[in-house]
Amino acid sequence: MNNSHHDKKTLHQSPQNILENIYGYSEFRGNQLAIVEAAISGRDCLVLMPTGGGKSICYQIPALVKPGTTIVISPLIALMQDQVSALQQLGINASFLNSTQSNSEQSSVLEQVKMGTLDLLYIAPERINQPITRQWLQNCEISLIAIDEAHCVSQWGHDFRQDYLLLNQLKSDFPNVPRMALTATATPRSQQDIVDNLELNDPLKFISSFDRPNIHYTVVAKTDAKKQLLRFLTGHRDEAGIIYCLSRKKVESTARWLNDRGLTALPYHAGLDAKVRAENQLRFLREDAVIMVATIAFGMGIDKPDVRFVAHLNLPKSLESYYQETGRAGRDGQPAETFMIYGLDDVVQLSQFIDNSNANIEYKLNERSKLDALLGWCEIIECRRQPLLAYFGEENHEPCNHCDTCQKPPKTWDATQAAQKLLSCVYRLGQRFGLAHTIDVLRAKQTEKVDQFNHQKLSTYGIGADLSQNQWRSIARQLIVRGFLLVDASRYNSLQLTSTSRSLLKGDLSLQLREDVSEPRLKKEPRKHTNGVSAQDSALWDALRECRKQLADEHDVPPYMVFHDATLMEMMELHPQSEAELLNISGVGESKLAKFGSAFIAVISEHAEAV
Ligand code: ADP
Ligand code: ZN
Repeated sequence: MNNSHHDKKTLHQSPQNILENIYGYSEFRGNQLAIVEAAISGRDCLVLMPTGGGKSICYQIPALVKPGTTIVISPLIALMQDQVSALQQLGINASFLNSTQSNSEQSSVLEQVKMGTLDLLYIAPERINQPITRQWLQNCEISLIAIDEAHCVSQWGHDFRQDYLLLNQLKSDFPNVPRMALTATATPRSQQDIVDNLELNDPLKFISSFDRPNIHYTVVAKTDAKKQLLRFLTGHRDEAGIIYCLSRKKVESTARWLNDRGLTALPYHAGLDAKVRAENQLRFLREDAVIMVATIAFGMGIDKPDVRFVAHLNLPKSLESYYQETGRAGRDGQPAETFMIYGLDDVVQLSQFIDNSNANIEYKLNERSKLDALLGWCEIIECRRQPLLAYFGEENHEPCNHCDTCQKPPKTWDATQAAQKLLSCVYRLGQRFGLAHTIDVLRAKQTEKVDQFNHQKLSTYGIGADLSQNQWRSIARQLIVRGFLLVDASRYNSLQLTSTSRSLLKGDLSLQLREDVSEPRLKKEPRKHTNGVSAQDSALWDALRECRKQLADEHDVPPYMVFHDATLMEMMELHPQSEAELLNISGVGESKLAKFGSAFIAVISEHAEAV
């Protein structure tokens, strides 16, 4: 066994010492220390923290302080290897138990638990539910049971797992072992389900804010999606990111298109061969600056901390999905950007999905209202972060000054008259035509369809020639969101009036709308990278990254397991040239210093001479 492993029984380190010496961090974040102390004192805990908040340390440090082995239950078998590798890089004794291992591997792991030499054991729920495994573990010294992704126990949530329901038996099988349930899902309902279904003992609840202050939000209406995307990506050269699309076809075509433009983009969707999917995922994790173009099949449990951007080329299903999907950016706490392009075609397509599904009417209405909430959020005039957090029950946030609407408040205009024109045109068209044709009529286009139906004779033909097609689309979208206009998916997406349309038509109401958000906001200078690397530093930056990549390949781990971007960035700022100086850098602990320290010091010294 690797003798660089820390032997906690001789070290008797405090949580603070462990944080500094093993992880190389100087301070606990948020509730971390309180959670660590609660677990050490033997209390059951419920831990709610957003992605990237730092949940792992909450159970890993008690595991190192207390005698015995901490069991970590996680549904993400594919990630166990990674989690264990990351711990081993820190010199921590960890292992996992799942169906991918041979019998002898499994018995060797169980033997280590019995001997008390393992600090952490990762295990899948179905495995710990096996009586034979459980009996074995009952005869070992167990310090803590951490239940990760604990919302999987909620039948109302999106990731429900049958196996999680049986985890309540841990209470009677390990009566003296404290349990810690952890999740990044914030809904009050899943919270209650976790406490009830796991039968936690009078748990201490640690609920962090779900704000992700390092994430910047931007939403634009679609004009030319490709151009809009490229413009966004120019601010993210050499950075890793995820681009979400609704369909497999669009995933493929977008990835191809980006590759043709010299970017490294890989497709990921459920229709791909399992082998290709695994390969692409591995490249995303291991190489620098890979863009994953994916359907929502990608992402659950992706632990990559240095994802610098998440872009949506289509609308997500709901505000909550949007929060989860964008939450995969910036787990390392460094600045990250999100970008969504949405268009009316998405609204129509998602509405059709809902209407054509076999679900009952209650479900459909619920889905519909979630979609409306999302659309309303897209076209909002105020801060984007406030309503996002209010959706999760946090009502008390100030405007964030770190989203597109805060930084550039959208202009509004009195759209009453324009709205009246659009609604009366819909009325004149007998509520039987879709938006594209309606706009053609408003703008006096001479199309085949106009000819065919003789629509140039309508009194509304040409009354909207003063506005562009995109402006009309934006007006229509906002009217739909506000319930003045309806798209009937069962009748070729024809536009229809609603009961509230009348008061607008009669002039009883006036309407303020945001000016079209779609017009390109040209920036004269290319933006600095989100990670803030300037040109002078970029030689050292490249050298540090190259060094990291080499070490990562040597140790067969992803680069971020050697050091995070933030750690390299600090090296760039402080130019540490001795081991002692390097230890002061956040993210450098004793084990990593021993493994990687000299290589980085060499790179930095070389650079210092060259300057
Ligand atoms: P979660 O599981 O909540 O998504 P992680 O446990 O993966 O989050 O932590 C996210 C990142 O933050 C990790 O890279 C971790 O090393 C880092 N981190 C956690 N706690 C601290 C801390 N106290 N100081 C600095 N970095 C931290
Ligand atoms: Zn804001």
